[in-house]
Amino acid sequence: MGRNIWVDHESVAATARTHPGVWKLVAVYPSAEGGKSAARRISRAQRMSAYEPPAAFEAYCAPHENGGTSVWARYVAGLTAVPPRPSTMTYRVIDRGPGREYRGLRIVTVVIAAECRMCGGPRGQAEPHRFCEDGEWYSCDRWTNACGHLDTYDSVLAEHRKRVVKTEGTGRKAAAEAWPVDAGEYTDAVAILKAESDNWPGLRARQAAQILALSGHPEAARRIQEEIEKRTARMGAKQAALFLAKLAAARAACTRCEDGRIRYQARDGEFASRRCLKCRRDTDRDA
Ligand SMILES: [Zn+2]
Ligand SMILES: [Zn+2]
Repeated sequence: MGRNIWVDHESVAATARTHPGVWKLVAVYPSAEGGKSAARRISRAQRMSAYEPPAAFEAYCAPHENGGTSVWARYVAGLTAVPPRPSTMTYRVIDRGPGREYRGLRIVTVVIAAECRMCGGPRGQAEPHRFCEDGEWYSCDRWTNACGHLDTYDSVLAEHRKRVVKTEGTGRKAAAEAWPVDAGEYTDAVAILKAESDNWPGLRARQAAQILALSGHPEAARRIQEEIEKRTARMGAKQAALFLAKLAAARAACTRCEDGRIRYQARDGEFASRRCLKCRRDTDRDA
């Protein structure tokens, strides 16, 4: 188990409890899987007694600039109105163009990750700022990241452009791809989506999930819903169908798990099992 790291969860949890609602860095895990697993177990207080009772803490993970995965947690027990963690941040920023010479400016609205690119901490709230340049008035946003890392306008513009290119790329790819015919265990669900989509071009993945939930495919609907939340790009019904076909194929090929659960020996010597993230099956136990 060389991918494990030692983390003083007692002291992280104690600090977080004294600052309810404030995200605290738990640790940077070397592997994405380790980070994800820790985040999940923190919010469930699963083999993590420091975070008891279950749901007293929220946790998430995000990429760290060193290649690892940061896990952040906040204490939410007893808080009535905790704003949910945003999936993206929208800021108005100043774009002065690529060259060195001065050629004025324009304001660009960027949609970027909700987390700091360096440490994975939450990015700050936009604060509107008015300023005057060359006799013109402009409005942009400023923000301060609680982690202390500074986002420059140039770096967030670059991040935004990368996202746009990626989104357009996936959109074009999906348009060129055909509907899957054989989607393994999801073949029926995919056939429903194809029929609905023929009647209703432009059907979104979210609506596709609702249709499947109502037509006897609640598990497929849940997987699509999860995928929508994971992706940054907009997702259509055909992309949802392609996703289901890929998932079915991955499950059929998976040799790591038994019915969606991977058994392993925990550090205390006891046997435990965790959900196979490749197969993403609904499993009854999460031990
Ligand atoms: Zn940071
Ligand atoms: Zn599996």
